[in-house]
Amino acid sequence: MDWHEESFAIHGGYARTQEGENSEAIFPTSSFAFDSAAQAAARFAGEEAGNIYSRFTNPTVRTFEQRLAAMEGGEACVGTASGMSAILSLTLGLLESGDHIVSSRSIFGTTKVLFSKYLGKLGIGTDYVPLSDYAAWEVAIRPETKILFLETPSNPMTEVADIARLAELAHAHGCWLVVDNAFCTPALQQPLRLGADFVIHSATKFLDGQGRCVGGAVVGPEALVEEHVRGFLRTCGPSMSPFNAWVFFKGLETLHVRMKAHSDNALALAQWLEAHPAVEKVFYPGLPSHPQHALAIRQQKSGGGLVSFYVRGGREAAWKVVDSVRMIHITANLGDTKTLITHPATTTHSRVEPEVREAAGITDSLLRVSVGLEAIEDIQADLDRGLSQLI
Ligand SMILES: *Cc1c(COP(=O)(O)O)cnc(C)c1O
Repeated sequence: MDWHEESFAIHGGYARTQEGENSEAIFPTSSFAFDSAAQAAARFAGEEAGNIYSRFTNPTVRTFEQRLAAMEGGEACVGTASGMSAILSLTLGLLESGDHIVSSRSIFGTTKVLFSKYLGKLGIGTDYVPLSDYAAWEVAIRPETKILFLETPSNPMTEVADIARLAELAHAHGCWLVVDNAFCTPALQQPLRLGADFVIHSATKFLDGQGRCVGGAVVGPEALVEEHVRGFLRTCGPSMSPFNAWVFFKGLETLHVRMKAHSDNALALAQWLEAHPAVEKVFYPGLPSHPQHALAIRQQKSGGGLVSFYVRGGREAAWKVVDSVRMIHITANLGDTKTLITHPATTTHSRVEPEVREAAGITDSLLRVSVGLEAIEDIQADLDRGLSQLI
């Protein structure tokens, strides 16, 4: 089909049943019934395509998988129980003991724990490098390296990496490039079209977009995804529930308009913060003052929904802004219609050693906002309640 992405987001993976429903049905069934013993045998032998059990495949989950694969420009997708189980399924599906990962050091904290603690225990080592230090990536690659892993923009400093350049580096060394695309989503950035081999999603974030369900996905080449990632998933079990899949693919239908609205609000907020006397510095890829603004606007359709900034003053000043909000929710989650605020140094990054945290720019003055879809004037007024007390 030669549809545009906005159309795939709405019609991708749709399969009408004999009931003629217009909106996609949900199939909350654990197993599937066969017409005969012979059919059951053929399904189990893999001689006949079709469903057997929802840990392996489910029609509702398949709609989500086909829709997201089409939006990312990928061949195949596997839906998983969470973003973490997407990363687990990909790494355990593809890697073996003795293999090695080079990862950006600015990744989701739990991903770091998965790599260092749990994969490390199995003899899969990980080295961490600064996201946009391309020489450091190259130096860290060893003969055993199989995966280069990153998120861009990074959280919470919104640093941007050149995906095409890292894909070239990965391929020159026989590695796969894996991009966790949770912050931009395919509506703003399509890593596979820039040369990445796999995309990871925490569907929990912008794909759902309304803070309801936990889920994830892996998108990539069909042969590898079906054999290794689905192979791992159907045996080890972190499958996506049909209900969650339904919530996610209904979310995908509005993803393009939501991401544009998140970005428009985030840019307006970033500009307003940059001019605020109580704010020392703003980090947002859509601002011309962002050090990688040129790369960001080349690689992304817009700046995305996350804005970070330093307030003037330390922890007390930052907490004052957090504690003064009335509409914005105080939570470390992101990618919601609601605007969310967090103080990274004492929440998401509190377990990082203080020197490492400071060196990464995550000081006590830093606040991160996941900009929602409320009226921008109300978001600004809610933040100004605390900010105006600092001057
Ligand atoms: C939240 C998040 C994850 C983990 O996803 P869960 O759905 O919470 O398991 C992974 N990567 C990024 C970038 C995230 O924001």
